[in-house]
Amino acid sequence: MTTNNDIQTVIVVGGGLVGSLCAIFMAKRGYHVTVFEYREDIRCAQLLRGRSINMSLSNRGRRALSAVGLENLIIGNAIPMKGRLLHDLEGKTKSVAYDPTTGQCIYSISRNYLNRTLLTELENHSNVKIFFHHRLISANFDDETITVLNLKSQEVETHSADLIIGADGAYSTLRRFMQQTPLFEFSQTYIKHGYLELKIPPKNGHKMLPNHLHIWPRGEFMMIALPNQDKSWTVTLFMPFVNFKILKNSHQLIQFFKVTFPDAVQLIGEELLVSDFFKVKPSPLVSIKCNPYHVGRKFLIVGDAAHAMVPFYGQGMNAGFEDCFILDDILYANKNDIGSSVEEFSKKRTEDAFAICDLAMYNYVEMRDLVTRRSYHLRKLLDEV
Ligand code: FAD
Repeated sequence: MTTNNDIQTVIVVGGGLVGSLCAIFMAKRGYHVTVFEYREDIRCAQLLRGRSINMSLSNRGRRALSAVGLENLIIGNAIPMKGRLLHDLEGKTKSVAYDPTTGQCIYSISRNYLNRTLLTELENHSNVKIFFHHRLISANFDDETITVLNLKSQEVETHSADLIIGADGAYSTLRRFMQQTPLFEFSQTYIKHGYLELKIPPKNGHKMLPNHLHIWPRGEFMMIALPNQDKSWTVTLFMPFVNFKILKNSHQLIQFFKVTFPDAVQLIGEELLVSDFFKVKPSPLVSIKCNPYHVGRKFLIVGDAAHAMVPFYGQGMNAGFEDCFILDDILYANKNDIGSSVEEFSKKRTEDAFAICDLAMYNYVEMRDLVTRRSYHLRKLLDEV
């Protein structure tokens, strides 16, 4: 057993939500931590990057934040959502509490705020170095090294550490190299729905019942809205790609919304609806499973790199945060023996992560059909108006 009291070195690839939290856990263990992040520092970025503007934070994620002393700060900047508010076709609404007995709720939190807070907390540790504009390009499991491209100098650097963690998201480079190792299992599924983000501006935000996750379930389509601190709401439309393609101009779009989400048209406003809808292309949604999460005695993947899931269960980030908590717990129990810890992490985590991915896929159908089993066919709707 390689148990040691020497200071361990850790490389975390990816300074997103899971990578930055994982690095905090490792720094708190006293390890020397180096983070390589492909993009610029989100705190200096002009434009918001990332896949969703706000996210739901649940107990699974809160437990991990609590373990590093950040739960109260984060929750203080989040908005509680006590239940779902279902919008029907006539604009009538129905509130369904998440937990009527204990009043437990989930929270809406800005992705940008969360990532900034985690990076700032990470930087407070003297045993941490963060390198932005550094992209992992390859991993060599024989000599236990990785190569990283410094995007500013264009230099290729080779690095090693006692533990190398890939938190580099659903399209993980580290996982791509793991996939070439014997017996590594991998599967990915794209669903036929894409998503696009819209916005209810602050001036209309007060017309929405607060402290709820709003849902417009329409069979084939679904729209949800989560609150932001500035009183605006981020609206996400989920729809099959083929249907996005049918909506080619503003007239078709507004007619479609008037029939399908009538109350939302007024809340978003026709002008903003048209400009936001046609500004970007809808994004794909992927579910990824693999097994194991480690290679050899020092390479490990966590977060979306290990188990990306469709967002309908609101647990992707939460499960990634839980990974960090569990990894830290295992390292503690194994007295910092990294080799046996990465193996144990894989054994403990894969089954649960598969189950969460499956639940997310199940909720993909469940949420769209919350109110009615009737399916709404876009072509027909457009013909009717
Ligand atoms: P990412 O957020 O993808 O971060 C990966 C980081 O690695 C990035 O910073 C990237 O720049 C960096 N990187 C990538 N490649 C390299 C490389 N080669 N070298 C160096 N750095 C690299 N989850 C929830 O829990 N609640 C929600 O409400 C929720 N809503 C969602 C809504 C939508 C529409 C979507 C698509 C997802 C949602 N999720 C939600 C899931 C959540 O977004 C992800 O689970 C979460 O972002 C995963 O974090 P991560 O750090 O593992 O990956």
